[in-house]
Amino acid sequence: MTRPSSELAERLAALRRSLPPGTALLAVSKGQPAALVRQAVAAGQRSFGESRLQEAAAKQAELADLEPLDWHFIGRLQANKARGVLRHFGTIHSVDSLGLARRLARIAAEEGLSPAVLFQVKLRADPAKTGFAPAELRACWPELAALEPLRAVGLMTIAPLGLEPAERLALFQDCATLAAELGVTQLSMGMSGDWREAAAAGSTWVRIGTALFGSRQPSA
Ligand SMILES: *Cc1c(COP(=O)(O)O)cnc(C)c1O
Repeated sequence: MTRPSSELAERLAALRRSLPPGTALLAVSKGQPAALVRQAVAAGQRSFGESRLQEAAAKQAELADLEPLDWHFIGRLQANKARGVLRHFGTIHSVDSLGLARRLARIAAEEGLSPAVLFQVKLRADPAKTGFAPAELRACWPELAALEPLRAVGLMTIAPLGLEPAERLALFQDCATLAAELGVTQLSMGMSGDWREAAAAGSTWVRIGTALFGSRQPSA
């Protein structure tokens, strides 16, 4: 189901009005047709998040007539997709291991690319999610921060399901504290259900899909 474009434009405008000045909107277009991305671009949105390489590459090809957009990879990144992800995305939010970071750095150097990367951190036990534990991230940080040509710009986190708003706020604040300790400024925190707490904790990228575009097509 495609929503009328005026409704999408209104949702975008309402979200932008609700976000504090330092918080940018990453429109998560996974599971949505290229036509909706086109409508969002017409309404002034330029940064889009995708989780699957093949789907994103097809959408980017469909939208090749537009000015270049700002594509962010936010999904679980399999090692064998690293080169493709580097070619199709300027920012990667989901770097969840030292091994993956090393691989991305090696391939980015071969490709002549210097992507912005955010390291995914797991601040509460959550069997459904990957990510660095804070202690592990601190231990790896000297190497991660120096892995040229990657640009280590920030941290990303996903709150586990079932937390109370106050618990989510505390989790996002913990992520902000860790980023400050490590000396990085970008914080990718908050989705459709919890962006308010994330924004309150200083998120610089809220990743919003369904609250903007409506329900997704099931993944292929
Ligand atoms: C799908 C996804 C989102 C968007 O989720 P919504 O609940 O639809 O806003 C945000 N972040 C990540 C990592 C995702 O995979």
